[in-house]
Amino acid sequence: MTSASKSQEGTTTLVTSISEENTRLRAQVSALEKKVAHLERKISFQAQSGLPTHFRLEIDLDNLIESENAKPSTLGFTVLIIQLGQTYSMVRKTLRSSISEWILYQTGCRVNSVLGPEDKVYHTREDEFVLVLRGAKGQDLKKVLRRLLSALCEPHVFAGFTVSLPVTSGAAYFPEHGRTRSNLLHYADVAAGSAQERKKSFVLFRPTLLQSVVERVELQNSIIRAIEAPAIRHLGEQFSLVFQPKLFVSDIDGRVLRIERIEAEALIRWNHPTRGLIPPATFIPLAEETGLIEPLGKWLVYQCVRRLSSWHKSGRGDIGLSVNLSPRQFRSGAVEETLAGLISSSKLPERALTVELTETSLFEDAEATTLILRRFNAMGVRVSVDDFGTGYSSLSHLHRFPLDEIKIDRLFVENLHQNHQDRSIVRSLVGIARDLGLDLIAEGVERADSLRHLYRMGCRGFQGFLLSRPLSDEELLKFRDRIVRDGMTFRIPPGAAGESEGDDAAKG
Ligand code: C2E
Ligand code: MG
Ligand code: MG
Repeated sequence: MTSASKSQEGTTTLVTSISEENTRLRAQVSALEKKVAHLERKISFQAQSGLPTHFRLEIDLDNLIESENAKPSTLGFTVLIIQLGQTYSMVRKTLRSSISEWILYQTGCRVNSVLGPEDKVYHTREDEFVLVLRGAKGQDLKKVLRRLLSALCEPHVFAGFTVSLPVTSGAAYFPEHGRTRSNLLHYADVAAGSAQERKKSFVLFRPTLLQSVVERVELQNSIIRAIEAPAIRHLGEQFSLVFQPKLFVSDIDGRVLRIERIEAEALIRWNHPTRGLIPPATFIPLAEETGLIEPLGKWLVYQCVRRLSSWHKSGRGDIGLSVNLSPRQFRSGAVEETLAGLISSSKLPERALTVELTETSLFEDAEATTLILRRFNAMGVRVSVDDFGTGYSSLSHLHRFPLDEIKIDRLFVENLHQNHQDRSIVRSLVGIARDLGLDLIAEGVERADSLRHLYRMGCRGFQGFLLSRPLSDEELLKFRDRIVRDGMTFRIPPGAAGESEGDDAAKG
């Protein structure tokens, strides 16, 4: 072989191996590209709902802000955050995962069904959706919200379960509230947090909300100071209790109620040294977050047991007393332990004390709940489910718990006189209570006609401003003494809302 043909052969071999290497590399690149595309799809779209994720939201928001900024004038857009909240996490914890996945999928579909062609929805966290609405502000936003919230509040029905999920939402406008992605998302989140705190379905961002975040932290610090600094007996310097009557009625004649049993609910009040009276709805959640609810709860049950025994000693052993327990108080065991000690050392009438728990507390861990409730039962402490009807309760779970009472949430009571839907909800709650053999009490009764409607539907327990506002210890005893003196009757005060229509209704 000549040297020329040798070199040609060498070149051919080199070309072949380069081309083989090329093919191998191309195959590798293509495999990598497939992997990248797969990964990108994975981080771009949420598996359960099929909606774009936070990753896409950030890219799209940045692009949108850039293009809006380039325009000479713009209507801007709205960032709306929707959170599914506590009920959803409870469903996730207690029911099969296929049910929570179905709920997420349905939620995505429902949101999509009300969006305009230019609007977009992202599934950013398991229980959070972010909507970018083009030009929907003010009245237009209200219209979208009405459609959206009514679609989301429809119960989810799946394999025998019916789950209603209350949602909270918050929004911020571009460019009025913020001009950057991070500001817009943060402000919409602050607004959604405020909605959750105030138990509202929607809050629009305003700069003062940022102030309330600062105030929250300050308030948390002052709870720490109020509770931790002095010994437990000094809590009474800032915290006090008021008592709101709960009346159980056996008959109604016009404006006169025949009273079978009188109870009261202890409600805590915090008189802050500089801020004045702070409502429990503001500080109880903060005390929960910090764990300070535990010393506060011990003080509270101590106060309640003390009051009950002093009422008993003064011949008013017929009044029962309820105390509210937040989820953490219920679970921690500290209150239970304090109660056990106090009850065994004081001679309280049997079943004089009731604890009020919310549906959320009950369903968090059904097994543990049953055990705790049995122990309450053994101590002679009654158990009431507060704010019933707003959370998610499956009847099959409810009957497993040893309960004594259900309190219909104020939400279903306040518009009873004009809302048929609320009336049918109450009717079904009456049925549930009857089937389970539980006492039923309606809270937030403000109108005479509502009280009569409730009575006709089969509800026998009532609490609300119509009967009495929360009272001091002394006032409560006077309230009780007056009923006893009037032969166990109570007269609805003249001029109460819903009087005239109700008088006739009562005879019907
Ligand atoms: P809740 O247990 O459902 O208490 C009923 C709340 O509704 C009370 O507000 C009461 O004053 C108010 N209310 C009663 N009747 C009416 C009415 O006819 N109309 C209206 N609009 N409101 C009425 P409050 O005292 O502000 O308590 C709010 C919540 O704070 C309570 O709801 C309970 O969840 C919590 N809370 C209160 N005291 C305590 C406590 O000592 N410990 C714990 N853990 N939570 C408490
Ligand atoms: Mg209560
Ligand atoms: Mg309540």
